[in-house]
Amino acid sequence: MPTSRADAVTADERSPLRGRRDLFDLPDGVVYLDGNSLGALPRSVPDRVRRVVAQEWGVGLISSWNSAGWVDLARRVGDRIAPLVGAAPGDVHVGDSTSVTLFKTLVAACRLRPDRRVLVVEPTTFPTDAYVASGVARLLGLELRWCDPADPAAVLDEDVAVLSLTHVDFRTGAMYDLAGLTAAAHGVGALVQWDLCHSTGAVPVDLTAADADAAVGCTYKYLNGGPGSPAFAWVHPRHHGAWDQPVTGWFGHAHPFEMDREFTPADGITRMASGTPPVLALSALDSALDAFDGVGMPALREASLSLSDLFLALVDERLGSAVEVVTPREHARRGSQVSLRHPDAYGVVQALVARGVVGDFRTPDVARFGFAPLYVTHTDVHDAVDHLAAVLGGEEHRRPEYAVRNAVT
Ligand SMILES: *Cc1c(COP(=O)(O)O)cnc(C)c1O
Repeated sequence: MPTSRADAVTADERSPLRGRRDLFDLPDGVVYLDGNSLGALPRSVPDRVRRVVAQEWGVGLISSWNSAGWVDLARRVGDRIAPLVGAAPGDVHVGDSTSVTLFKTLVAACRLRPDRRVLVVEPTTFPTDAYVASGVARLLGLELRWCDPADPAAVLDEDVAVLSLTHVDFRTGAMYDLAGLTAAAHGVGALVQWDLCHSTGAVPVDLTAADADAAVGCTYKYLNGGPGSPAFAWVHPRHHGAWDQPVTGWFGHAHPFEMDREFTPADGITRMASGTPPVLALSALDSALDAFDGVGMPALREASLSLSDLFLALVDERLGSAVEVVTPREHARRGSQVSLRHPDAYGVVQALVARGVVGDFRTPDVARFGFAPLYVTHTDVHDAVDHLAAVLGGEEHRRPEYAVRNAVT
């Protein structure tokens, strides 16, 4: 693979996503490889949020629930996320945090298999997924069973109600076979819940083709919705009628404004709603999704793999055995990030940040580099590895100021 800086410039000029970066407001001199943790700011967002606050809220006041469309904003935003995950319009709900959404979907999924006593989780998953699963198991009196990350299907049997998996691992960037594992779970009569936090907007997902049961994903990573923007949930339409999520609030009622005493769930995915939607956050997310208009997932995937391929080639060429690549090299098993193991990974990441290259550290020894294909360029990748080689060559990661870790990096 051609790896000179001139080759990187040429690859950017030829990219089908050329020009998309201009839709984002990135500080000068920063190479941002942390969009898998917090997506960059789309330029359209500040004006939209200002308008929603000043006009819709400030002037329209209560009438904006109807006149500005606040009441069905969550549904409209869900319809824009749907094509990114292979969902039909009308089947994606947006509103709560990822953790809360995971809780609601897991309880509902387990309730679809009332005669089964086991909930399976993958032990290296993002901690909140396992914490929530353990809370759900306690609440419903289920057994929490850990699977082997290398072969999650091996522990499946006819006691398993639900298998909860994260499609792309947050630490290693390794990607599971979504369709294959879904089929394996269905083979023993279990359901699967997929966490798409590190997939949505960066790798193609087709929940319908995979015949998945339920999925959850966050919107502040590759979808650029802003810090704490609400998560989404998808449930296969075959489960809608029996879907019984535990937070039965008025926004999930069939007729919220009739103020009935009894709870009657709304049809379809709307029953995933609980309370008043976060209109400001949904407005920012709605505007952020404009950056995806007119781009298909295949083009995003091609760009993402081109960036991670270049990063891997340069790491091999420039760093050799100084770091260990923990992300699978096979395209079919790679998400949109590359993780490197180094005993001083924390110091390496801090020294890179000091040079304007923003990746992040995951305990105990992993440095992560995310390739958000809408705004990361091949030139960024080239420059990032230049800096990485300089940090390691100059032992900058050993500086005393990096000896104490900050809680949030
Ligand atoms: C980012 C991420 C989360 C975040 O959960 P929040 O409730 O939004 O804080 C959860 N799970 C996975 C797999 C993630 O990558």
